Amino acid sequence: MASSSPDHDDASSVAGRLGAIRRRMTQACLAAGREPGDVILTAVTKTQPAEAIDAILAAGQRVFGENRVQEAQTRWTDRRVALANLELRLIGALQTNKAADAVALFDVIETLDRPRLAEALAAAAGKAGRTLRVLVQVNTGAEPQKAGVLPDEADALIAQARSLGLTVEGLMCIPPADEAPKAHFDLLRQIARRNGLAVLSMGMSGDYETAIRLGATHVRVGSALFGERNTPQTPSMD
Ligand SMILES: *Cc1c(COP(=O)(O)O)cnc(C)c1O
Repeated sequence: MASSSPDHDDASSVAGRLGAIRRRMTQACLAAGREPGDVILTAVTKTQPAEAIDAILAAGQRVFGENRVQEAQTRWTDRRVALANLELRLIGALQTNKAADAVALFDVIETLDRPRLAEALAAAAGKAGRTLRVLVQVNTGAEPQKAGVLPDEADALIAQARSLGLTVEGLMCIPPADEAPKAHFDLLRQIARRNGLAVLSMGMSGDYETAIRLGATHVRVGSALFGERNTPQTPSMD
């Protein structure tokens, strides 16, 4: 594409990749007969340097996902004060002893996956005097090493979280890396439907268009925006 400012809109810049992903999201919505505005892009900034974050903020992105509480605090606490209408979403596993820190920083916790965490989050939200928006993470592939409530136990956890006063907006999943995601996205949508939940956080760099076709309302994209992460990501326990 001819451009007078290649640093800002070609495929090698964060802004250029952001524009390309937004266009592909729009096309996926239109192909599925959905309104483009119905799908939100969560930019996953875990392990990214400050320059990358500032570049994507400058390009207008305002919804972000982080998978570790402490790492998120160091990079978002000040930016959160400086920027209006930022939305921070926790997408990594959360320990109960970090519930209060998570509630203090994040707008939405996408990784509620067990009764004790629901209790800890409800207590922390109560202390902070706020209502807390959460998604229940479902381990759709029933993978032993993966976080998330088992599909059979999801209804009970959703009911418990609601009875504790948490605002359960929807569900999140990370399909098994070695399987086609469709069955997992379908299962997540079924569980959401029978529980009256509107939000489906599903789809990452490799499959966000498929996820949009299957009903995602939020896609979580990291490497397609920022390039491959240099730091290997192990599942985090904070
Ligand atoms: C890292 C991560 C993503 C983004 O993955 P990419 O493949 O880099 O887009 C999405 N969701 C979760 C839960 C993650 O940990």
